[in-house]
Order: sequence, then structure tokens, then C-alpha cells
Amino acid sequence: MHFKRIRFTENLDLDLNDEMWHCADCGHALISARTNYKRGCLVAERDPREIHRPILEGEHTLSPDPNWIRILEFYCPGCGRQVETEYLPPGHPVTLDIEVDIDALKHRLQDGELVVQDGHLYPAHEKEERHD
Ligand SMILES: [Zn+2]
Repeated sequence: MHFKRIRFTENLDLDLNDEMWHCADCGHALISARTNYKRGCLVAERDPREIHRPILEGEHTLSPDPNWIRILEFYCPGCGRQVETEYLPPGHPVTLDIEVDIDALKHRLQDGELVVQDGHLYPAHEKEERHD
């Protein structure tokens, strides 16, 4: 069975045929869909004071303290599109925000319980109710 690509986020597609995460823009294969897609991206660590510049003078500027927060930007190595951004305390591991049971998803598509239409995943029983 050939599976249609699924748009998982604005910037991230899941291809069940090669079981890879792909950039939604250029189609570049990022990394295995059985692992954290962020590991397949280029990463930039940004000084939070660059992103959120000080507004007030003095000790409390409303700009984040880089000793307390770091900003990580994840980019597609194929086209440079920003795939995700994450705010983390320094030293905190990159989070796993999407974890898909690939085998179960394949079975549910093969059994017709789920369908992919226009890149989006739907329960099959809703198929007739949509008018787009
Ligand atoms: Zn790309």
C-alpha cells in the first residue's frame, strides 16, 4: 500500500512509505519518523536578549535572562526553513513534542479506519460529512 504524506505541523510532513519526517516546504528527508524530528534539523542557539530586546532600563528590563532561558531554532538543512522554535532552561534536553506510533498508524490506514485527504488525517467515518 502506498501512503499519502501527512502534514503533521505547518512545517513538517510524515511519509509512512520511507518512515521519514520531511520538510513541508522542500520535501527534504530530515530523519527517521521513529525518532525526534529535531535531531534531523540544523540548530541555532539564540541569545534571548536578541529576540526579546530590553524594554525598560535598570535591573528589570522585561528581556529574558540568558542564565535562565535559551532559545533554540530548528531549521531544514535542505532549504533553511524554520521548522520549530523552543524555549528551554540552559542544560535542559531538547523536548520530544511529537511521537507517532508508526506501526499502529499504518494499520489504521490500511484497515480504512483513517484516511488522508489533502495531506490531513481524518477518521474514515467523517469522510462523507466534509464538504471541502
Ligand atoms: Zn526544507
